[in-house]
Amino acid sequence: MKTIKAVFDPMPMQLGDEMITRALPVRGQKRVGPFIMIDHFGPGTVYKGKEKGVPPHPHRGFEPITLMLEGTMEHRDSAGNHGLVGPGDVQWMTAGSGILHAETPKVDGDTMPIHGLQIWVNLPKAHKMTEPKYQDIPSEKIPVIETEGSRLRVIAGAVNDVQGPASTFSPLTFMHGSLSAGHAVEIPIAPGFEAAVYLISGEVQVMSETVAGRKLLAFDDAGEKIKFTASQDAEYLVLAGEPLNEPYAQYGPFVMNTAEELIQAQRDFQEGKMGYLA
Ligand code: MN
Repeated sequence: MKTIKAVFDPMPMQLGDEMITRALPVRGQKRVGPFIMIDHFGPGTVYKGKEKGVPPHPHRGFEPITLMLEGTMEHRDSAGNHGLVGPGDVQWMTAGSGILHAETPKVDGDTMPIHGLQIWVNLPKAHKMTEPKYQDIPSEKIPVIETEGSRLRVIAGAVNDVQGPASTFSPLTFMHGSLSAGHAVEIPIAPGFEAAVYLISGEVQVMSETVAGRKLLAFDDAGEKIKFTASQDAEYLVLAGEPLNEPYAQYGPFVMNTAEELIQAQRDFQEGKMGYLA
């Protein structure tokens, strides 16, 4: 069984007009395998006519993933993709060589609850300039491993014989689970993977530690399983993968290997080489 290496508090952050919490990177934990960011937005309420969202902006060199818990986001990008991401749905975008996208809450009535997560997965050096693509993964396409009191959705990678629908550029697993109070879950983690759990809400017991909602739990590399018990109904993410072990350079929306590549990314964006989006 894996033991806890450290438990981290996310940091409140201002992102545009919204306050979010950032659970990765945090002081003491820069990344987990290829996972480089976890942003948690909401829960909140969006009012019709006051939808702000995130206006068009570029990305290069990694994969931004949106997982909605409540509410619906409308996605548009410079490659012409357009889609709605509703509760339980996942949108897995590969920015690759460069893309512009915009995300806007899609309010049907007067108000809409909004709650979700955005995760960034780094691309290996060999794939940073891959052609941009977009994987629309509706909730019904995500397999669920159900045991008593536990639902574990496998979004990417394999858990036992269950394969998640998202294709990835490096070995990783990404799961979304819920666990009812009084129940336990055991999650196998492949050897060589770094692993963490982001506790979205609730309270769990791991080994002898009690951890309550909005915490990042980083696990030691030794051991093949994560096990925890819910003391209150809990919702969580599992992120695990092989570390890329390559140079890392980030500036805002670009994640590359060198400072020169970041300057090139900024130049390519300004020259319109990542496309246009009004
Ligand atoms: Mn973005």
